[in-house]
Amino acid sequence: MSQLEQNYQNVKDRLRRATSGAQRNTTPILLAVSKKHDIEKISALYQMGQRHFGESYVQEAVAKIEQLGEFDITWHFIGPIQSNKTKLLAAHFDWVQSVDRMKLLRRLNQQRPAEMQPLNVLLQLKVGDEDSKSGADFTSLRHMAEAMHEMEGLCLRGIMCIPPPADDKAQQCLYFQEARQAFQQLQQEFPTMDTLSMGMSNDLEAAVETGSTMVRVGTDIFGKRPQ
Ligand SMILES: *Cc1c(COP(=O)(O)O)cnc(C)c1O
Repeated sequence: MSQLEQNYQNVKDRLRRATSGAQRNTTPILLAVSKKHDIEKISALYQMGQRHFGESYVQEAVAKIEQLGEFDITWHFIGPIQSNKTKLLAAHFDWVQSVDRMKLLRRLNQQRPAEMQPLNVLLQLKVGDEDSKSGADFTSLRHMAEAMHEMEGLCLRGIMCIPPPADDKAQQCLYFQEARQAFQQLQQEFPTMDTLSMGMSNDLEAAVETGSTMVRVGTDIFGKRPQ
C-alpha cells in the first residue's frame, strides 16, 4: 500500500470512529484539501474513490481543474477571496466555502454562468473572536443569507469556520459549538442549509463530535505541503 493510500485509510478510519463514538448515523463528507499538491496525487486519490477536493489558491486551482477536466470531481474553494477573483471562482468551482462579505456574493451571483448549476455557497463564520483568520460575525451572516434569497445563481448550503489553533480538545469543541449554534439557528430560517464545514487534520474528532457534516483534511492525507 502506498503512503498516500495508508494515510487516506487512516483518515477515513478516524472519521468513522469519531462518527460512531458520537452516536451519529451519517459520516461527514471528507473534503481532501489538495492545495500545493500536484495533480498526480489528486488523481491517485481519485482512483481510490475520493471525489471532493478543496483548493485555496485561485490560479493554481483553475489550472488543476482544467487539467483534470474529465474526472468527476466536486471542487471546493476554501481560501481567502479577493474580489477580482470571483469571476474565476464562479466559472470553475462547484462550491465556494469562504464567503465572508456581501460584495463577494453579489459578484459570484452575477458571474455564475447561466448554463451551470447554482454555485453552492458556505458563509464563513468567525469563531473564537480574536484576530484569527477571516470570517464574518453572526449578524453579517444573517444579512448575507437573507440577501441570497434573490440570488438565483447561488444556493446557500451552510457555514464554514476555521477556529484559532488549539491543541486542547475541550477548547476545540468550544469553538465548534459556537459554529454549531449559529448553524442551527440559521437553519431554521434558511432551510437549504445542510452543511456545517469544520474540522481539519488537527481537530477532526472534536469537529465530528460537535456536529460537523464536512471535514477538510489536507496534511493527514497528502503529507506536509511543499513550500
Ligand atoms: C489548508 C486548509 C485545510 C487543511 O488543513 P490541514 O491542517 O492540512 O488538514 C482546511 N481548511 C482550510 C480552510 C485550509 O486552508
